[in-house]
Amino acid sequence: MSEHDAIVIGMGVGGEEVAGRLADGGLDVLAIERKLVGGECPYWGCIPSKIMVRAGDSLAEAARVTGLAGEAQIAPEWAPVAQRVREATADWNDEVAVERHEGKGETVLRGEARLVAPRTVEVDGRPFTARRGIVLASGTEPALPPVEGLKEVDYWTNRDAIETKEVPRSLVVLGAGPIGLELGQVFSRFGSEVTFVEVFEHALAYDEPEIGMAVADALRAEGIALHTGVRARRVRSIGDGVAVELSDGRSLNAERILVATGRKASLAELGLEAGGLDTDANLIEVDGHMRAGDGLWAVGDVTGKGQFTHVAVYQGRIAAADILGREHSPADYRAVPRVTFMDPEVASVGLTAKKAHEAGVNVSVGVAETKTTARGWIHGPGAEHGVIKVVADSERKILVGGSIMGPAAGDNVGFLGLAIKERIPIKNLRDLIYPYPTFIRGVEDALRELESS
Ligand SMILES: Cc1cc2nc3c(=O)[nH]c(=O)nc-3n(C[C@H](O)[C@H](O)[C@H](O)COP(=O)(O)OP(=O)(O)OC[C@H]3O[C@@H](n4cnc5c(N)ncnc54)[C@H](O)[C@@H]3O)c2cc1C
Repeated sequence: MSEHDAIVIGMGVGGEEVAGRLADGGLDVLAIERKLVGGECPYWGCIPSKIMVRAGDSLAEAARVTGLAGEAQIAPEWAPVAQRVREATADWNDEVAVERHEGKGETVLRGEARLVAPRTVEVDGRPFTARRGIVLASGTEPALPPVEGLKEVDYWTNRDAIETKEVPRSLVVLGAGPIGLELGQVFSRFGSEVTFVEVFEHALAYDEPEIGMAVADALRAEGIALHTGVRARRVRSIGDGVAVELSDGRSLNAERILVATGRKASLAELGLEAGGLDTDANLIEVDGHMRAGDGLWAVGDVTGKGQFTHVAVYQGRIAAADILGREHSPADYRAVPRVTFMDPEVASVGLTAKKAHEAGVNVSVGVAETKTTARGWIHGPGAEHGVIKVVADSERKILVGGSIMGPAAGDNVGFLGLAIKERIPIKNLRDLIYPYPTFIRGVEDALRELESS
């Protein structure tokens, strides 16, 4: 039996963070990964999708020359995008990442790990034990909705969309959440006829309704169809594509269908029973120190605290400190930023008004439109759908949530995150001098609205 100080199962961004920190802390670490060290984010998630988004945005921005600065001739071509994706992922090769971890003294093992007893895992029938503990960082995979016939057609997930060398002539996207919106808008900008099917009433259903409505306007303005409040009932192959029957009786035909209806934790093969964990759960419950059980920690998407790289890395930092016995603050998720890198960008942090209300907060809100700010007006095309919403606890006079839709929203939302996390009084936020003319002045407008509401 091979023995180590710590074992990390799954080397996505969460696992990488813990494994690297434990190795830096002097522990003997066994890092086990069944596919690619780095996981979803660098190979099929954040990085390649943002390369595609950047390319799509450049086309949209070039089109905005008309009316602002003359005429621009645009001839979209997918080959440079596919090439940049291949460069960024090293053609889906993780050699550099493996070397980085081995360089820290970790043992990197390729294979599928399963818990078989307390502090013991098995990979290909070989047992490994951990003196201090095991970290579960097995991430998520696309969740397939219960649509008749879906498994029989050649559907796409984010992985196929990222790896494609060709833009489909037409695309039905199931799910107008962050992943679907980013990828669908990109393909549309490269000439695909894109239709979204969303079961909820709004796109980005977990965000503010004002944002959902603005997203719908932005999509429709660029010729993208969005059907909300409707589900795909049946899918079947037709000729060189698929037919999608909707619950309202309509039918859509497209060359491809992209499934972007959420993600589920990869727990089935993990042997949770051997670790004393609930085998029926969809996620792994953790406390503020990322402890999931005796000698067990969990980080990243599997914990259900927000499926984002920045959450996985944050949790990885906490888990590593806990395992190393170092002083650390327990996890605090009050100000987790969520960004959808569509155009215009959408970024939120903290609670929506609805969630705050459900949590018993005495809610007041302030809403402003980007186009009525000086910068929004100057910017013109590309800023016309922007909206800013702040959510306050009107008793404590602090912000508990905020959303920004517009250029650089993901960068600007950090300001709201700080205000929420540090419980900065609204009065102090109103006293600030906001640079003129910037998009962040829209937050000042929303705060003014809040006070007058
Ligand atoms: C298209 C897309 C775009 C995204 N864009 C962003 C973004 O812009 N910003 C952002 O913050 N987040 C983004 N995300 C989310 C982000 O990718 C995830 O939150 C992040 O990858 C989670 O990291 P993780 O370590 O928990 O899991 P993962 O990255 O999923 O890694 C888990 C790893 O565990 C391995 N594994 C699982 N089971 C086992 C086992 N039994 N044995 C061995 N190995 C195992 C898997 O092979 C995998 O490599 C995006 C996701 C997608 C799909």
